[in-house]
Amino acid sequence: MEFQRRGVMLVIASPSGAGKSSISRALFGQDPNIKLSVSVTTRARRTDEVEGKHYFFIDVPTFERMRADGELLESAEVHGNFYGTPRARVEEQLASGNDILFDIDYQGTLQLYENSRPDMVTVFILPPSIKELRARLERRAQDSVGTIEKRLTNARKEMAHYNEYDFVIVNEDLEVSTQRVRSILAAARLERERQTNLDSFVKGLQNQIGSI
Ligand code: 5GP
Repeated sequence: MEFQRRGVMLVIASPSGAGKSSISRALFGQDPNIKLSVSVTTRARRTDEVEGKHYFFIDVPTFERMRADGELLESAEVHGNFYGTPRARVEEQLASGNDILFDIDYQGTLQLYENSRPDMVTVFILPPSIKELRARLERRAQDSVGTIEKRLTNARKEMAHYNEYDFVIVNEDLEVSTQRVRSILAAARLERERQTNLDSFVKGLQNQIGSI
């Protein structure tokens, strides 16, 4: 039996290449209740990225206007580019009981904690080793050598933030890690405060006893 409930804001973070995007895609593909939060970014589009699916690609003046007008729930500068989460869609989805998956960095997570903490469940993904992290970045081969080095340097800083997250997973195996995130989400969905009509359900149960 499923109760009406408010959606979960599921934040998955990790250094680039640790597997976060693959885990997110796997979760998203298997569960129609999970929606992706599509961020805006001023970064150039990679060849395999689709406008409106991976990001909304915008210029810096548009980003600054959106931020100034309060249209972004959070925003941050990562690797020299700006990123932000459009507010309107998140609020609609939560209210309609869908969970939203966020692929944002620790700066964005800290901003969301300020206003949305009760709605959030946060997971930090670590690579099993730096050798493996580098290999994954190289296999991805979408970034120049300079960018890979920059991402590795950033990984050092990003990893220091693991302790700001509710859950930590070392991603040795994509399927196992995805299953772990799914379990975390399954538990979060059952949290009492998210289930909006429990009170009337329990009263209904009590009334049935009363009428026996
Ligand atoms: P990439 O350029 O590889 O797609 O993403 C770089 C980093 O920016 C990743 O760590 C990703 O989580 C983060 N990021 C993507 N979108 C957002 C966003 O809307 N807000 C914040 N704070 N970080 C984001």
